[in-house]
Amino acid sequence: MAINVLIVDDSSVMRAMILKTLRISGLPLGETHQAGNGEEGLDALNRHWIDLVIVDINMPVMNGEAMIDSMRDNYNMKDIPLIVVSTEGSESRIERLLHKGARFIHKPFSPEIVRDTVKDIIDVGVGDERKA
Ligand SMILES: [Mg+2]
Repeated sequence: MAINVLIVDDSSVMRAMILKTLRISGLPLGETHQAGNGEEGLDALNRHWIDLVIVDINMPVMNGEAMIDSMRDNYNMKDIPLIVVSTEGSESRIERLLHKGARFIHKPFSPEIVRDTVKDIIDVGVGDERKA
């Protein structure tokens, strides 16, 4: 199953880095979409079929936490798997995001942690190349 991914981050450099990381991770990527803030992210979710959202926290217009809250209030978006990728250091905020069902990855991140986190929350349907 190819997974359609939406990457939401106000830094285009970071979006490109996340996309590159996904590409080299060997995950079966379908369509990829990008948005620069939460509002644009919700707009993309309304227009495209998305299997996974990777979202920053600190962004202008609408931050990642507000976007996640809107998704959770929307019947069509509430079950979409979420990974927050952020420099966020506040334990209480991270705790809150985890309670909302998001996974959390700290920036800077390794390709392995991204790949393993995606595999953990989505049935990507590829052979597991890790040795058993
Ligand atoms: Mg940011």
